[in-house]
Order: sequence, then C-alpha cells, then structure tokens
Amino acid sequence: MATYKKFCMHCSGLIPGDSKLCPLCGADDPFELRCPKCRNPVERNWLICSSCGFSLNIRCPFCGKGTFSAPVCSSCGAQLIVRCSSKRCAELQVITASNRCLKCGKAFK
Ligand SMILES: [Zn+2]
Ligand SMILES: [Zn+2]
Ligand SMILES: [Zn+2]
Ligand SMILES: [Zn+2]
Repeated sequence: MATYKKFCMHCSGLIPGDSKLCPLCGADDPFELRCPKCRNPVERNWLICSSCGFSLNIRCPFCGKGTFSAPVCSSCGAQLIVRCSSKRCAELQVITASNRCLKCGKAFK
C-alpha cells in the first residue's frame, strides 16, 4: 500500500496519513477538529461545543476577523497557538475565547 500524506490541521505540516499523533507538533488527532476544552469532536461552523458549551469562535489577533478556535486562522492562515506563560504549565494550545490557559487557568496577556 502506498504511503500517503496529509496536512496536520494544527501545524499544517505534511505527515503520514495514518498518524495518531503529529510527529511535528505533537498534537493528538492531527486530522480532526476537537473542542479545545473537552476534546469532543466539533465542526468548523459550530459556534459552541455541543458537549460542554465552550465558545469555539474567536477573533484572530493577526487579521482581526472572526474565526474558528482552530490552530490555523481560516482567514489569514496565521497559527493561532499559544504557549502558557506559566513555567510549570507551558501547555501548547489553541487561542480560545476565554483567553485563559485551558490547563491551569492562567490568563493570557
Ligand atoms: Zn502538527
Ligand atoms: Zn467541549
Ligand atoms: Zn487571521
Ligand atoms: Zn497553563
């Protein structure tokens, strides 16, 4: 069987199509959109998560347009990934409407 490659939707890197984890950015589920908070599978046009009600729509800090809370802005293609500034946490995550770390709750600037 020929190996095929797909784009990771988190880092846009080209990786093997059967990857469980993205070898480039370490994201789990590289080909599926999930709620950043509860990991429920979500669709790109949803405003909130159907499972936990988390807001999935954010304003891109780069182009100022509303976009899905995904690793890449659907308007300008900028990466919407932040690392928590807490040294003990340092969790990599997508920018969310809450503007807080999803892991430790620290507010981002
Ligand atoms: Zn990736
Ligand atoms: Zn959720
Ligand atoms: Zn943008
Ligand atoms: Zn954190």
